[in-house]
Amino acid sequence: MTEIVKIKNLGKVYESGKNKYKALENINLDVKEKDFIGIMGPSGSGKSTLLNIMSTIDKPTSGDVLIDNEDILKMNEGRLSLFRRDRLGFIFQDFNLLDTLTVKENIALPLALSKKSSREINREVLKVSKKLGIETILNKYPHEISGGQRQRTAACRAIVTNPSLILADEPTGALDSKTSKDFLKLLKELNEIDGVTIVMVTHDAFAASFCKKVIFIKDGHLENSIVKTASQQEFFDRIIEHLAKIGDEENGSI
Ligand code: ADP
Ligand code: MG
Repeated sequence: MTEIVKIKNLGKVYESGKNKYKALENINLDVKEKDFIGIMGPSGSGKSTLLNIMSTIDKPTSGDVLIDNEDILKMNEGRLSLFRRDRLGFIFQDFNLLDTLTVKENIALPLALSKKSSREINREVLKVSKKLGIETILNKYPHEISGGQRQRTAACRAIVTNPSLILADEPTGALDSKTSKDFLKLLKELNEIDGVTIVMVTHDAFAASFCKKVIFIKDGHLENSIVKTASQQEFFDRIIEHLAKIGDEENGSI
């Protein structure tokens, strides 16, 4: 299968004054096409740092990062921003929608600078919004819709460009449990039916159980990974066991 992300011997050191802090050390990770990978670990273990490096918004101190076989560490800012726009989709905990734009305009945002005609853009926005069940609220503003609808809008915006990779950092962190479950089902469908490749950071074992594979980080190190082989429930139980092993029991609840 095609490799979407290849991370080799990655390290990240934060320096503030005389202090150096190793946030990530010797991380090796491959993400293949159609993967749905969860990244778990205690707070402060380096999950967001790793995701931000894959997002090209932060740079490692050492190591290699290839996305779609391209060395993102060798790109200048101009190329990186195009690369982000065309190849990556982002979903954040706080949705990151623009309040002054409608749902439709928010979704269309990544296409705004493309060479597509407004007719084409409209067609694509309608297509993704139908897929995610929000086609009836396209003319509303973010403050007029629910949290779940806001997160669906963010997901539409993330997939409208057909990116190689969707990166999500705690995407259900601000949703109630029912809305969260619906949203996770949706990510699972995007992955299984549409073949979208997803990497999702979560501290929640239930959210992680929707993934096909979960990797565990502790103190900046990749501890191990587990793959879903049977039911979601069985996977959830194994995730809880691994969280206990790495001393992250507090996040092992639903
Ligand atoms: P997680 O997402 O797993 O909670 P982070 O990746 O945000 O963890 O952070 C990993 C470690 O790196 C933490 O100890 C955090 O305090 C530190 N860190 C993160 N960002 C910075 C920064 N910009 N400057 C200094 N230290 C940072
Ligand atoms: Mg984080």
